[in-house]
Amino acid sequence: MKPLVVACVHGNEPYGLEVGRRLPPFFSFLVANPGAVEKNARFVDADLNRVFPGNAQGNQEERIAAALAQRLKGKFVVDLHSTSEPCPLFGIITKPCMLAAARRLGLQKVVFMTPAFAKGKALIDHCKGISLEVGPHDRKENAGEALACFDHYLEGKKSNPELFKVVGIVRGRGTPLIQNFVPVRKGECIAKDPDVYADKDFVPFLVGEKSYSDVLCLQAVATTSFG
Ligand SMILES: [Zn+2]
Repeated sequence: MKPLVVACVHGNEPYGLEVGRRLPPFFSFLVANPGAVEKNARFVDADLNRVFPGNAQGNQEERIAAALAQRLKGKFVVDLHSTSEPCPLFGIITKPCMLAAARRLGLQKVVFMTPAFAKGKALIDHCKGISLEVGPHDRKENAGEALACFDHYLEGKKSNPELFKVVGIVRGRGTPLIQNFVPVRKGECIAKDPDVYADKDFVPFLVGEKSYSDVLCLQAVATTSFG
């Protein structure tokens, strides 16, 4: 299935525009939220990735979501995002069947957002979707690293990624002392002011996302399959 690449669901994640300019012609491409890109803001009225399936009579992002939910239904979509903190490129899926697509894209890390954590409000919940995350937002290598995934796709090879599944969310407003995908041990101090200690062994990701004001990170554990 021919992939559709979606950039700028969040308007302050502009590397997706560069990916669009350099993407091989085989792939389709669209910019999800041009109004937010123009303002260099995550969103105009509401976080687009939290309002699917949208509302045709709603605010700006709800209207975009309603149109995209129709347009992307049943399609294979690669949804480009970036993170606040440094982060190796990884994929997020909400359906185990999307692991094959992640391997075709050459990903080295894939996180399965299990039904307890995937709320059905994100773009990838409404298509055959995979989100790519890399960061931080302004890092100049982001576009090149994402483009390497599309080259890998065209070569037809498959990677053998590390697999993770989400097991929790750490709430807190302190300064994180942890890094994306660097494992932490139970009892380790993972944030200061106020201090937070790890309740279990886990692998942190989406550490210190500025858009989630009360979330320190998400917790994942390594797994051998998503079945
Ligand atoms: Zn994003």
